Amino acid sequence: MSKLGTPELPLRAAVIGSGPSGFYAAKALVNSDLTVVVDMFDRLPTPYGLVRHGVAPDHQKVKNVIKIFERIAAKPEVSFYGNIEIGNELTIEMLREFYDTVIFCNGMATDKHLGIPGENLHGSYAASEFVAWYNGHPDFKDREFDLSSDTAVVIGQGNVAVDICRILAKTPEELEATDITDYALDALKKSNIKKIYMVGRRGPVQAKFTEVEIRELGTLDSSRPKIDPEQMKLDPLSEEELNDPENKHAPHIMAILKEYTGADEAFDSKGLHILFFRSPKAISGNDKVESIELDKNELEGEPFKLRASKTGDTECIPCGVVFRSVGYRGSPIPGVPYNEELGRIENEDGRVMNGERPDPGIYTAGWIKRGPSGIIGTNRPDSNATILKLLEDVSHLEPCRERDTGQLLRQLTEKEVRYVTYEDWEKVDQEEVRLGQAVGKPREKFSSVESILDFLGKKPPII
Ligand code: NAP
Repeated sequence: MSKLGTPELPLRAAVIGSGPSGFYAAKALVNSDLTVVVDMFDRLPTPYGLVRHGVAPDHQKVKNVIKIFERIAAKPEVSFYGNIEIGNELTIEMLREFYDTVIFCNGMATDKHLGIPGENLHGSYAASEFVAWYNGHPDFKDREFDLSSDTAVVIGQGNVAVDICRILAKTPEELEATDITDYALDALKKSNIKKIYMVGRRGPVQAKFTEVEIRELGTLDSSRPKIDPEQMKLDPLSEEELNDPENKHAPHIMAILKEYTGADEAFDSKGLHILFFRSPKAISGNDKVESIELDKNELEGEPFKLRASKTGDTECIPCGVVFRSVGYRGSPIPGVPYNEELGRIENEDGRVMNGERPDPGIYTAGWIKRGPSGIIGTNRPDSNATILKLLEDVSHLEPCRERDTGQLLRQLTEKEVRYVTYEDWEKVDQEEVRLGQAVGKPREKFSSVESILDFLGKKPPII
C-alpha cells in the first residue's frame, strides 16, 4: 500500500478555523515534503477569524497580513469551506472518515469572567462582545451597548483594553475612515461617554499592553491619557523587574506612561484615565451599572511573578458602563478533548491528548492550543511547531476511508448546508470593498450570515 503523503496517497488534512493559526498551519503543510490536500473549514461564511473580527477597525495596516493568507488560499492544494458548523453539521466522526488528520485552529471567542457581584447587571459587558460587535461579527450585530452615561470603566490593561478605550475615545471623524460597521459607528456617534478609565490590578511595569498601542493612545484628536504621578512610584520589586537587562519592553512603556503624567488641558474633551493597582471588587446599581468598587492593591511575590494583593483600602468610581477585558477563553467542540479550567483543547505540543495518550491524527494550533497570547505573527511558529509534530507522526497514521472532498460536500448539501467557497468569499470581498469605497471606508462589511447568503444566492454551488 502507498505511503500517506505521496502523490498516490496524498495526506488529507482538515484545518478547522481560518484565522491566522489555520492559515499558517495550511502553509506549513503545503511547504512540507509531503503531497497534501488541505481543506479549511470555518463556522462563518468569511475567512480570517480574528483578523476580520478582532483586529481594531482603525488598524488597517495590521490587516495587510490578509495578503499572505490570500496567497496561501490560492495554492492548488488548499480549499476553503465556510458556513459549516463543526461538531454539528460537520461532526468529528465525519472529519475522521474523510481526513487522515484534523488540525483544530478554531481560536478563542468567549471571555473570562471576573466572578464579582454585579457582573451581570445591564451595562456590564465582555470586551470580546464589544469588539465582535463593532467589527461586524454576525453573532453580535444585534447586541446593544448602553453608552448613555458619561463614564466607562475598562477592566484590564492588555491590548484589547487599549483597543476599547481608543474606540470609545475617538471622535466620529476619526472612526469614519475605518471599516467599523455602520451600526456601531451610529451608536458611537450617539455615545455620551466623556470619561474612560482603564484599570489594571498591577503596576505600570507589569501592564500587558505593548509600546506601539500605548503610544497610539497619546495621539488621538480629542483626548490624551492621564496618569496620577503618584501611581508611577515603584516598589523595590517592580524596580528590579524594570532594571532587569532582559526586560526590553518595560523601560519604553514606562517612558511613554511618564509622558501621560502631565495633564494636557488642550485635550480634555474626553478624559482617558489610566489607573494602576486596582482590582474590581463589585459592580453596583439597581437595575443597571451605577458604580464600580475597586480594591486598592500592592504587589507581592518575586520579580516577574508579582501578584496583586489587597491593601484593605477601596475606591468607588461612579460609572454607567463596565467592560471586562481580562482575557479570552475557548469553547469546547463536541468530541474534542477540552480542558475546562484553561479553556483550551487538551494537548501536548499541539498533539491533542485523549487522557494520557495522543489522539492519533488530531492536532491543534493557535490560541485554542496555547491560550490567548501573542500577536498575529506569533501564530506562525506555533502552527509550524504543531505541523512538525504531525510530520513526525505521519508514518503511523491510518489513512481515512473516504478520500473525496466532493463526497463530503454532497453530504453537507443533503443536510441543506449552504457552504461558502473561497471563490464565493472573493465575490463578497469585492462587494464589501465596493460598498465601502462609496462611503469613504476601506470596506463596508456584510454583518449577517443571511445577507452574505442572499448576496451569493442561497443555492449551494454545483460540485
Ligand atoms: P492580555 O494581554 O492577557 O491582558 C489581560 C489583562 O487582564 C491584563 O492586564 C491582566 O492583568 C488583566 N486581568 C486578568 N484577569 C484579571 C482579573 N481577574 N482582574 C483584573 N484584571 C485581570 O489579554 P488581551 O488584552 O485580551 O489580549 C489577548 C492577546 O491579544 C494579547 O497577546 C494581546 O497582545 C493580543 N492583542 C494584540 C493587539 C495588537 O497587537 N494591537 C490587539 C489586541 C490584542 P495581569 O497582567 O495582572 O494578569
